[in-house]
Amino acid sequence: MGSRQVTSSEPLDWQGKHVTVAGLGVSGIPAAKVLHARGANVTVVNDGDDARAREQAAELEALGITVRLGDGATLPEGAELVVTAPGWKPDKPLFAAAREAGLEIWGDVELAWRLRGPDAAPWLAITGTNGKTTTTQMLASILKAAGLRTAAVGNIGVSLLDAVLGDEQYDVLAVELSSYQLHWAPSLRAHSAAVLNLAPDHLDWHGSMEAYAADKGRIYEGNRVACVYNVADKATEDLVREADVEEGCRAVGFTLGTPGPSQLGVVEGILVDRAFVEERHKNAQELAEISDVNPPAPHNIANALAAAALARAFGVPARAVRDGLRDFTPDAHRIAHVADVDAVAYVDDSKATNTHAAQASLAAYESIVWIAGGLAKGATFDELVAKSAKRLRGVVLIGQDRALIREALARHAPEVPVVDLDRTDTGAMLAAVQEASRLAVAGDTVLLAPACASMDMFANYNKRGDAFAEAVRELGS
Ligand code: ADP
Repeated sequence: MGSRQVTSSEPLDWQGKHVTVAGLGVSGIPAAKVLHARGANVTVVNDGDDARAREQAAELEALGITVRLGDGATLPEGAELVVTAPGWKPDKPLFAAAREAGLEIWGDVELAWRLRGPDAAPWLAITGTNGKTTTTQMLASILKAAGLRTAAVGNIGVSLLDAVLGDEQYDVLAVELSSYQLHWAPSLRAHSAAVLNLAPDHLDWHGSMEAYAADKGRIYEGNRVACVYNVADKATEDLVREADVEEGCRAVGFTLGTPGPSQLGVVEGILVDRAFVEERHKNAQELAEISDVNPPAPHNIANALAAAALARAFGVPARAVRDGLRDFTPDAHRIAHVADVDAVAYVDDSKATNTHAAQASLAAYESIVWIAGGLAKGATFDELVAKSAKRLRGVVLIGQDRALIREALARHAPEVPVVDLDRTDTGAMLAAVQEASRLAVAGDTVLLAPACASMDMFANYNKRGDAFAEAVRELGS
């Protein structure tokens, strides 16, 4: 961990500046409007040219913004800066042309960061392969319990531009950042930041695991007070070590075990802080009980510790950590207990769309009938199945890539009964739940943690979770 001088971002004079906004959509449209309102000469370029894009283009053109539909590849003449939607892949020709011309490329986060006012609220930033949304919301809940004016922003809730430019005054922001957003946010400097975990994901976008990790690691650049890492995930600690931070910034670990000095962890069912206390070599501060965390699954306790670490780095008292955790309710489809039917618990973790998430979810229960499958997105299932095999009472497979999971089960858990459902119609989830109920015995958990994306059978993971809950209700009626 090296230390560096802060370079504050100079306010830009936007008057007449030629800015290319890449991509209509949730980040492009507000970016174009804001820059236009500041006097910039804005051209929006967009790959698509469908009815919706044309409607959006007409709205922007009415304001005097130029929009070019059906060609997101060529850099407009005279461009001085590119502001891109975070999801645009770095290998696009537009970016090659921009780099060739020596232009900066900013994403939505960089834009918000640069446009924030001189007295803007500091950012407590969170990234990771899984747990971002939950941890960011927990953090906002803790900050609120401490009486601070705050919001959970970024990838969720309020958009960053709105949070930074709106009328609402904040003391501090809890900011969720994706790896894409971090890729395009070169000058972001958070007060403190956490990387929750690192597992292969979105590698087609980043190009390699190294590039993905490097983008995640940017969150630590220039941190002022604490770089929070996961003691159980060495890759996160390595990123802290590589980061250039401000003089005096500390590395703070979180662990489900007993914490060492400069760590937060768990001792006999209590979440404790040995980082933000006087004489941390001798002392520890009780923060909350495991039962204050909802749900108290191991990975979620890790999320709570990470949120607590960031809050404590901001000076929040221990009591507020406990109150904030108690006040927090997770978003839908994240280990949501749907119902008990015949002494079997039915749990919806439809949001477990990759193997790393599903593994955390499976680790939270002793004896499981697992409903899995969908779109694998290039994932392999051997590690997940091998690690979870002893907890599996049975498995029901759904969706397009279920054969990949079936083969992994045959290799690592050949004794576990598997029902392979070869159907994708609307009744498929009900059939899956019925099969699962047949495999389950009293005390088991039927867990929807698909380890796959949902789009082969459902519009999104919400719909998949809703279908599961609906099927459970039907089963119980
Ligand atoms: P994200 O915003 O990163 O997608 P969420 O908080 O929405 O994360 O959680 C997504 C899913 O990831 C959850 O449903 C759960 O299965 C899993 N998950 C949550 N926290 C963790 C964690 N710390 N480690 C591993 N998996 C997790």
